[in-house]
Amino acid sequence: MTNAAVEGAVDRWRSLPAAQQPEWPDENRLREVTARLAAAPPLVFAEECDRLRERLGAVARGEAFLLHGGDCAETFDGVSAAAIEAKLRTLLQMAVVLTYAAAVPVVKIGRMAGQFAKPRSSPTETRDGLTLPVYRGDAVNDVAFTPAGRRPDPGRLLRTYDASANTLNLVRALTQGGYADLHQVHAWNRGFVGSSPAGRRYEALADEIERSLLFMRACGADPAGLRATEFFAGHEGLLLDYESALVRTDPRTGRRYATSGHLLWIGERTRALDGAHVEFFAGIHNPVAVKIGPDTEPDEILAYARRLDPRGEPGRLSFVVRMGADRVRDRLPALVEKATADGVRAAWVCDPMHGNTFTAPDGRKTRRFDDILDEVCGFFEVHRALGTHPGGIHVELTGSDVTECVGGGSELGLHDLPLRYETACDPRLNHGQSLDLAFRTAELLRT
Ligand code: PEP
Ligand code: MN
Repeated sequence: MTNAAVEGAVDRWRSLPAAQQPEWPDENRLREVTARLAAAPPLVFAEECDRLRERLGAVARGEAFLLHGGDCAETFDGVSAAAIEAKLRTLLQMAVVLTYAAAVPVVKIGRMAGQFAKPRSSPTETRDGLTLPVYRGDAVNDVAFTPAGRRPDPGRLLRTYDASANTLNLVRALTQGGYADLHQVHAWNRGFVGSSPAGRRYEALADEIERSLLFMRACGADPAGLRATEFFAGHEGLLLDYESALVRTDPRTGRRYATSGHLLWIGERTRALDGAHVEFFAGIHNPVAVKIGPDTEPDEILAYARRLDPRGEPGRLSFVVRMGADRVRDRLPALVEKATADGVRAAWVCDPMHGNTFTAPDGRKTRRFDDILDEVCGFFEVHRALGTHPGGIHVELTGSDVTECVGGGSELGLHDLPLRYETACDPRLNHGQSLDLAFRTAELLRT
């Protein structure tokens, strides 16, 4: 294809219906903003995306496990060293638990450095008789319930780019610069020790790892691989004006990559096969994922595979299953069976959050730890029964001690929700609940 033909193909999404896009009030300002983004340096590089494809290829082949986690919605105010570090170390701790307990390589992706836009179930929200546009993430408007706050502002796309760059910069420094050194396995738990049963269980595991490291060093082995860790960033590729402005061509290969993050996924609400999102995703070479809910039909799975992974390359495509604890055992088997029979080489990942949300009596959205765990168990049961690989988990979590989900080791109850309910969108696991989930998942992975 000529360059113009490639560009045309990448832009074809513009002629298709794009769900969940904001109604930008000022087209000129939007064009100005996307022109600036189009001239900006990429946030991630083709080589990194290719490396993640390789790693996810191992997941698809059953040789590795994916841990993908972070906020439901990142916020500009949340771009602080403390908050980013706390999320990162929670993920590092979970990864250590999974790696050590199950002895499989763990691929780590932060739901970070780009997760600023949200699909919503209704375009408006009414409070005390006032109806305003719904909050669509900091990339679009403000969570504050005022006419000015809720007005979509294209200038926020530039702030999204900056917030993502700042986050990635710190994440790269921490993961490559000694902080993620496995010898820090105890330090990652500092401040959390004893604050939750899972935190204490983690201390015991860190003791064991430390002893193994001393043993290895005494034997003369001190592999460089323990000193840094590979960490990637992935977010929902929702706002197509933003995503397409950040597409770049890799001069080595002529391939086009979304450079806003290493992995992009299509959400349950935007996965229409004849829609703009699938078309846009078909034109980029990143690893991609599709979130699938309980109403997904087996033929749709085959259609996604044909559109998004026509060559059947393990690592290109993942399915993130979010069916709910009560439906995953019923609904998932037919999908996996048909995909397997048809030779689909995708990875299967469990999002145990989005099918298990309910409204507490005080009106807050929450999730029960036991439902989350039950969906993970169901996901594993289905794959074990079919002889396929339960490839990973995709979770909403944060590194601090929030009270947004109930249950888990510290037995948070519905009456505890008001204490520290801080999320800008969906309820997240706190630090202790995240570790707890990692320990339980490791047990499933080992058996
Ligand atoms: C999300 O991941 O926050 C989300 C909205 O998920 P889903 O598309 O699965 O509903
Ligand atoms: Mn969410």
